[in-house]
Amino acid sequence: MIQAESLFKTYTLGGEIIRALDGISMTINSGEMVAITGASGSGKSTLMHILGCLDQPDSGRYILGEEDMAQLSQNRLAEVRNRQIGFVFQTFNLLPRMSALENVELPLLYAGRKDAKERAEEALNVVGLSDRMRHEPSQLSGGQRQRVAVARAIVSDPILILADEPTGNLDTKTGDDIMALFSDLNNNGRTIIMVTHEQYIADHCQRQICLKDGQIVESHVK
Ligand code: ADP
Ligand code: MG
Repeated sequence: MIQAESLFKTYTLGGEIIRALDGISMTINSGEMVAITGASGSGKSTLMHILGCLDQPDSGRYILGEEDMAQLSQNRLAEVRNRQIGFVFQTFNLLPRMSALENVELPLLYAGRKDAKERAEEALNVVGLSDRMRHEPSQLSGGQRQRVAVARAIVSDPILILADEPTGNLDTKTGDDIMALFSDLNNNGRTIIMVTHEQYIADHCQRQICLKDGQIVESHVK
């Protein structure tokens, strides 16, 4: 479902050239749950941004589904981002003055869907937050906020869920709960790629890909 071939990405900062991605090739099949691990600065977020079509590689090919991302129009790329990919971030990235329900509805409203409310309620139900729909983020715990973010990520029924350190701001117990939620979603057929630098989180995934200095140094399957 995902095919990445020789992805390179460099940044230039104050005259210094940083090889954030230094030739990444990988294939991820539909239905997999994969952890991307590696030290801070190893290129994990850069890779996730490219997989999420938030950024483009300098060179290399990225195929999602049947489509080569470099060949898409800006409009089609925005559509892929909005409908085929769900994002979960370490810092939740919820809008503060909006209820959980409104936060989850948002991607559907952007897509012009009329059934936004029903679908958002359903997604909040999946993450176990039926009784917190009217709460704003400030009225929710960290774990509940991340559940809202997961609901927002799945509400468009994306083919791929990308999560960048989704448990990074949560305590161990809450992090485990969120991982159980991701495992449930994966058991229901969703493809998930998540970044973590904690081994016990990575151990929830069937496959682990370890990055070092922008290269894959280890890739193993449980
Ligand atoms: P990770 O998520 O594994 O911590 P990143 O992908 O964020 O790593 O970063 C990889 C490398 O690229 C790091 O050395 C980082 O400092 C550098 N980098 C990331 N984004 C930028 C940017 N926008 N400008 C310059 N350097 C960057
Ligand atoms: Mg990062």
